[in-house]
Amino acid sequence: MTSGLLRNAVRFGYLPFMLIGLNGAAYYAVTTFQSHIAIAGTIVALLIVAFSTAFFAERVLPWYAEWNDPHGDDKTNLIHVLVYELQSANGVLAIPLLGWLFSGGLNAGIWPRDWPVLGQLALAVVLADFGLMYLHYLSHRFPMLWRLHAVHHGVDRLYGFNGLVRHPLHQAIDMILATGPLAIAGMPMQVALLLGFVISIQLIVQHSNVAYALGPLRNHLAIGQIHHLHHVNWGTEGDCNFGLFFNIWDRMLGTFHPEPPRPITAGDMGIDEIPQFPKGYLEQVTLPWRYKPGQGVQDLSRKPAHAPTAAAKARAIHDAAE
Ligand SMILES: [Zn+2]
Repeated sequence: MTSGLLRNAVRFGYLPFMLIGLNGAAYYAVTTFQSHIAIAGTIVALLIVAFSTAFFAERVLPWYAEWNDPHGDDKTNLIHVLVYELQSANGVLAIPLLGWLFSGGLNAGIWPRDWPVLGQLALAVVLADFGLMYLHYLSHRFPMLWRLHAVHHGVDRLYGFNGLVRHPLHQAIDMILATGPLAIAGMPMQVALLLGFVISIQLIVQHSNVAYALGPLRNHLAIGQIHHLHHVNWGTEGDCNFGLFFNIWDRMLGTFHPEPPRPITAGDMGIDEIPQFPKGYLEQVTLPWRYKPGQGVQDLSRKPAHAPTAAAKARAIHDAAE
């Protein structure tokens, strides 16, 4: 039986440990260590600590106990995580090339390289948050992008792994359009590496099934119930709260919905028109070519596609109207 002390430690300690402790440790390693191998090893170790902490905390203090039950998706989600991190690392390694191609040299560009690294990282987070949030918003509006983004929304539960469940093509679009401009502006590799790390931690926190306390930050950070509402399978009602770090960009765009119209239950995650979301990795990455928004997924076993639900029709009408 979990003691009240342990539950309280998770309730109040999880967020500070993940957001300040792990990000702080990565910052220390990246700004202090001289060896690239030591830096890379520390980043990988910290990511493993982040996932382990999330899974432990989910067992101690879950939002919904049902989300901890095995859903047959662990292996697929692990592949997603590895692909995500590999692609993310490739993006960081491409920074010198981008800087050279677009700025005529590694030390040129408009990026404020003379700022302290922490200031540069804060700037990178705010700018990337805007770019990622806006692309996320567009991914819910345009069927072509939604087909790719649907791979992230198909999961019928939220837990530590599935923040990094992304279609690799959608992740590439995010990196090229949302963080690529920062690299082109001259963001140093050191800052890019930290940005990639804090984004991974944020995705783990945003999707982990941990009932952490947010207190007065509840409506300012794009995590907790704010993000649960984004994942509901209620037609277009989840087309809100697109932010990754902060809610300020959603507030400016008019897409910030702090309260769900009705209580969210454990079974409300996923996509209404794909109730049988495929569990295999290859099935998921090929899904965008079999899924027609408004009509569901072409069934591989040749059974007739299920009739669209009322909510699915609402989404189709909503999409057609735009
Ligand atoms: Zn989304």
